[in-house]
Amino acid sequence: MPLRIGIDLGGTKVEGVVLDGSREAARVRIDTPRGDYGATLGAIVALVDALEQRTATGATVGIGIPGAISPSTGLVKNANSAWLIGQPLQTDLERLLERPVRVANDANCFAISEATDGAAEGSEVVFGVIVGTGVGGGITVKGRIISGPNRIAGEWGHNPLPWPDGEDDPRLCYCGKQGCIETFLSGPGFSADHEAVAGVRLEPTQIVEAADRGDAAAAQTLRRYERRMARALSSIINILDPDVIVLGGGMSNIDRLYTNVPRLWGRFVFAAEADLQDRDESRIGPPESRLVTRLVSARHGATSGVRGAAWLWPDAAIAAPAR
Ligand SMILES: [Zn+2]
Repeated sequence: MPLRIGIDLGGTKVEGVVLDGSREAARVRIDTPRGDYGATLGAIVALVDALEQRTATGATVGIGIPGAISPSTGLVKNANSAWLIGQPLQTDLERLLERPVRVANDANCFAISEATDGAAEGSEVVFGVIVGTGVGGGITVKGRIISGPNRIAGEWGHNPLPWPDGEDDPRLCYCGKQGCIETFLSGPGFSADHEAVAGVRLEPTQIVEAADRGDAAAAQTLRRYERRMARALSSIINILDPDVIVLGGGMSNIDRLYTNVPRLWGRFVFAAEADLQDRDESRIGPPESRLVTRLVSARHGATSGVRGAAWLWPDAAIAAPAR
């Protein structure tokens, strides 16, 4: 079986793994040379060398980045690591590593990891969601990323929160728009919402702990969050109808989301209501129970991004040549 190297180029760390099938054969991690494109290239090459010294040469290389490669120019776009923007990252790495390299958005890497050997293994259509400092998403169909001609498929974080109600005061997003899903569902958005209503700034984990202790304001913040996530994911279900939605990122550690959000989303999913009308009402439960969509927590947690980068080369037949 060919070895697959995955590199996750993050804003603070560059991490690399070698996957032998699903088994992690080696892993290395270094600080990101922030602000320095040339040093970033050098760091990735050094990581690949270090990984191949521990295993074997000739592995495929996939890179997850906080952005995307523009299909028209081949240059990096939409990256929050600004020093990558406008750089020919893929062609530079292919030249330096002397092999083809695949580059994808980090949310897409998360989705392919969970769809390949993670929480959504074996599912046909998967929507992978990262709810952390930002909100991103990726779509896989039969284990392949659907990236789209503009390379933005799955990027739901900067759509507006659907079905707004009186408690959804639109907030300014860094992208320049107002009321983006990210401003409500990211960790910082969750903290800001609690502060706006309860008047105290807490980290997301502190809010969850306070709710567990019986703090009424914290419990209300969590309920608002669950309703918003249910509405935001319902619009995804209405368009994509995925078999599984996998949550990753810091906010995915809130266990109650997996029970409470699916209870709420049936009210907003068109198919659930249609199903209800078609059946004998005495034999069925509330509309939410009719949906078969599963909401699950990532199996590989924080390592899904780097594992997914390795899975950008799913086929054994297209292994890269040895250096
Ligand atoms: Zn936005």
